[in-house]
This record gives sequence, C-alpha cells and structure tokens, in this order.
Amino acid sequence: MTALQQTPQSGWNITGHEYAIDRLRRALAAQQVRHAYLFTGPEHIGKTLFAHRFAQTLLCVGGPDLRVAPQTPCNTCLSCRKVMHGNHPDLHIIVRPPDRQFILIEQIRALQSDSARKTLEGRRNVFIIEGAHEMNAQAANCLLKTLEEPEPDVVLLLTAPDPGLLLPTVLSRVQQITLRLLASTQIKSALQEQWGVDQEEAALIAALAAGRMGWAVQAVENEDLLAERKVQLETLAKLPTAGKVQRFEIAQRLSADTEKTRPVLELWLLWWRDMVLAAHHCLDLTVNVDMRDILAQQATQVGMREAERMAHAILGTMEALDQNVNTRAALEVLMLDLPVIT
Ligand SMILES: [Zn+2]
Repeated sequence: MTALQQTPQSGWNITGHEYAIDRLRRALAAQQVRHAYLFTGPEHIGKTLFAHRFAQTLLCVGGPDLRVAPQTPCNTCLSCRKVMHGNHPDLHIIVRPPDRQFILIEQIRALQSDSARKTLEGRRNVFIIEGAHEMNAQAANCLLKTLEEPEPDVVLLLTAPDPGLLLPTVLSRVQQITLRLLASTQIKSALQEQWGVDQEEAALIAALAAGRMGWAVQAVENEDLLAERKVQLETLAKLPTAGKVQRFEIAQRLSADTEKTRPVLELWLLWWRDMVLAAHHCLDLTVNVDMRDILAQQATQVGMREAERMAHAILGTMEALDQNVNTRAALEVLMLDLPVIT
C-alpha cells in the first residue's frame, strides 16, 4: 500500500449509496469492470457525481499497482486531481447542448472516434453520457455499435432518471446501478458534518430535499433557492384569504413562465400535504418545518376534508399540464378550487 493510499483524504466522498459503491468496489477488486454502466435514480439524487467518482477511481494512479485501478480514489494523485478539475484527457463528458432538444449524433460519432484512439495518460478511456435518455433514436443506435464491440480499455458511464427511458437494445448491454433516495437523517447529518450547516437549517433542507442529496447541496450552495421557496410559500399562505382578482393575477404570473410552473406546483403540493397532516394533528411530520405556526393555524380553519381535496386538485392540475392543456386555464381552475378563509 502506498503512502498516497493511506492518506486520510482517500475515499469516494459520497453521502449514502453504500451498496452501489460496494458493488463497484467488488468489481474493481476482482478486476471485472464492465464496459458500460447505467446509473439511474430521480433528479438531483447524485447520479452524475457518482459517475464522476467512478471515473476518477478508474483513472486513479494512487493505488499499489499502477496497472490496475484501486477500489477507492486517492483524491490526491495527479490523475484524481485532473478528474476533479475536469481536465483529464481520458475522461470525456457527453451532455445535451443547452440549446438542443437531444444529444446529437455528432457527439456520439466523436465518442466513437475518441474510443478507438489510444488513451493519452490513463489506463482507460472513460466516457460519461449525462442524461443518456436525451439521445434520440439515431444517436442511441449509433452508440449501440460501441456497446456491441467496445475497445478493451473503454468504459461508458450513462446516467438517466429511469431505465425505461432507454432503448431495450441499449439496456441489455449495460450494467444497471440504481441509486435510491436517502433517509432525511442521513442528509441532515451530512449537511452538518461536511457542509457546516447549523442544526435547524440542516433539518429544514433535509426535509425539503426528500431524499435527494444533490438537491440538498444545491440548497446549501445557492441561498436563492431557499429564499425563493420562502417567498413562494408566503404567497401561497395568503392565497386562501385573497380575492378572485388577486388569485387570477397569480395564475397569470405563474403561467407566464412555464419552466417554473411545475416546481411551484410541487412546492404547493408539499404545502397542502403538510396541511392535511396538520389537520390530522400530525404537525411533527410536516416538511415545511419553518412554517408550522401558519400551517397549524390555517389547518384548523380549512379542515381535513378541504385540505385533502386541495392536494388532489393540485395533483390533477399537474397531470393536466403533462397532457399539454392550456397552463393559464388550468391554473385559473386551480385558483378557484382553493379553499376560502375569511
Ligand atoms: Zn488518485
């Protein structure tokens, strides 16, 4: 064992997902790394981070034998540092261009020619395809060729929210690793221990993260995220006392930015789910821990049945929007559905 491997910094540095790390460590130990992996799980759960850490481990030169990858990245060797800084010449990232609807076939063709080349520094040519479900059929079929006859030193790491979004022919050639939601206690302690977040805020973020560490980290790093949530919730809390004109104004404002409609509705759904809990005297189970006073107060006025009806109405609106109904009309209907508190 080298001194580098013994340094306290070595590690996957991933919160949770122990069983998934364990699976990969066993493959590394047995030197039976497959040619292609697919990491799946909900948005913001940490699929991309996971793929990057695995890529780093595959390229790490801090292990006892330079010819084989260690089971854990050392985080200090030149190769590890290059991966962490995003400039390792043998790690290639493929992601949908922001102005395009799909990953382009040209990107997959570039992958093919890169994978046929000898590695520049490392022992492997590693490709990460972020959001592999965003390949159109043409690009996916092009990728199949590489999956069917991979060069010996090539490893492809794909990420997607759900395996069902990929072609069965692609699925049959990748090893699937499913990342699952973390317990909120796990997220809370990680935020306190690794990010130095105080207890109260860590509890709030962990509750809102709903099992997704990536979301929690975003909330810590971007204060606007929580501030915006607070503004949204305050508007929402006032809605039952608002008149028709005001409600329609909000529907109009919300429908003007369709990108934001869904996240706002998700927030509302959580709010009304909390209202149902509060109405059932289960305030301690609510997610919006910083708004419990308002929740408790409104729950007594709204009542269980109305709170439940509202949660269903929001779900119905979300489903309707998925069917491409007119956003403004759907939101106006929802606004009229809102209980009235005087
Ligand atoms: Zn290393």
